[in-house]
Amino acid sequence: MIDLTGRVALVTGGSRGIGRAIALKLASLGAKVAVNYRTNEAAAQEVIREIASQGGEAIALQGDVKDADQARDLVKNTLEAFGRLDILVNNAGITKDTLLARMKESDWDLVIDTNLKGAYHCTKAALRPMLKQHYGRIVNITSVSGLVGQIGQANYSASKAGLVGFTKAVAKELGSRNITVNAIAPGYVPTDQTAHLPSELVEAFLKLTPLGRPGTPEEIAHAVAFFASDEASYITGQVLSVDGGMMMV
Ligand code: NDP
Repeated sequence: MIDLTGRVALVTGGSRGIGRAIALKLASLGAKVAVNYRTNEAAAQEVIREIASQGGEAIALQGDVKDADQARDLVKNTLEAFGRLDILVNNAGITKDTLLARMKESDWDLVIDTNLKGAYHCTKAALRPMLKQHYGRIVNITSVSGLVGQIGQANYSASKAGLVGFTKAVAKELGSRNITVNAIAPGYVPTDQTAHLPSELVEAFLKLTPLGRPGTPEEIAHAVAFFASDEASYITGQVLSVDGGMMMV
């Protein structure tokens, strides 16, 4: 049984969708959780209330992961509230889908800066307390799109593939300091992010999914909790597909 009592987690983009489920899951296992959001304060406060109603402890932290100073403040405020930082989940992510021929440079930059540079900013900021503690668990949320590429998602696929390389490089750098770095690659999970997808594309995804159904945010959160736990102490630099079997190698 995973027990995160005494651990402190920061979940970026923890206010909605998969990040929300991750925050709730880590809190249910005993971690104190800092729930980051960018704009939707009401959603973040709802997560905090739900965690509190289950006897857990959580705070909401506004901050844009694209911005180095704001990422540093997220870590600083987590440390001020809870005294340590054991688990960082780089979950905040966006899409700006269109074919490459029509993709504006601003759409490219926004997605890369949020999904990839955001993880760089937050991980860098989290390093100091984790190195001091000689303990850390970093979990990056990538995507099946980053592993196989997806039409209309050159920016998103590149950002998520970048996260895979980032995960492996940083795992090698930090292994000797007892900090593990792993990634989860979800398949299709209905959330606000995927709500706009045309039904034909969703059907095509499901055809490629041996389990024949979408995933749930909770199913992604279970896998994150494992990587965040002591049970995963000898696992680093790995990418775990949680996608109903869509991606098999
Ligand atoms: P949602 O759109 O439901 O939620 C996105 C979250 O990220 C929100 O909490 C949002 O905050 C936050 N966020 C967005 N931009 C920033 C930013 N610049 N700084 C801080 N927070 C930010 O997305 P999902 O739950 O679907 O996705 C979560 C992660 O999982 C993403 O990385 C996504 O790419 C990945 N993923 C999702 C899949 C899916 O099928 N849903 C499949 C594979 C991967 P706010 O509420 O304030 O807007």
